[in-house]
Amino acid sequence: MEKSTIINELEKNIKLCTKCRLCKTAKNPVPGEGYINSKIVFIGEAPGKVEDDTGRPFVGRAGKLLEELLKGINLKREMVWIGNIIKHRPPENRDPLPDEISACEPYLTMQLKAINPILIVTLGRFSLNYFYPEGKITRDRGTLIRVGKYNVYPVYHPAAALRNAQMAETLRKDFMNIPSILEKAENTKYEEADIPIHDGQLGLGL
Ligand code: SF4
Repeated sequence: MEKSTIINELEKNIKLCTKCRLCKTAKNPVPGEGYINSKIVFIGEAPGKVEDDTGRPFVGRAGKLLEELLKGINLKREMVWIGNIIKHRPPENRDPLPDEISACEPYLTMQLKAINPILIVTLGRFSLNYFYPEGKITRDRGTLIRVGKYNVYPVYHPAAALRNAQMAETLRKDFMNIPSILEKAENTKYEEADIPIHDGQLGLGL
């Protein structure tokens, strides 16, 4: 099946999904959007208020910062794919619960399988731990980690950077390294492990 057909089908399924309680409190599903042939995807935790209002990922203040950071490395949001682990907003932006994560997980797994990016940039602690449960955002941010067949590059969440100037500075620096990290990810064979390899529990079927 064509990549675009798979992504469109997934989007339709997400829009109709009632597999967890979050669809009852959210206004809109936020399936994710962008260029499905991108080598890089950006994955956050879950939609916030503005995302819930619009059905689009990263369109609030954190989204504006993300766009600025992308501009700094000569990218526009439509040149990459941007999504979240959870597709409906948790009430009051609370952390998603384990059963909500399990219910929603197959969508992101299938989206990533279809897009097949070279680099997954995880935005924030929650997204890092989804891919790499042992990860620590303060320790691992700005480093390339191999998770299964994927290259994961954790950075701080833009929303956290909006609240903390030092984090914002670190996030900027980590973003500026994305082009060289992508090159490294593209050119490093799986066996060449100056990249830490994590083959642990993903629950993602990756
Ligand atoms: S959050 Fe995910 S699993 Fe829950 S209803 Fe929405 S799409 Fe379905």
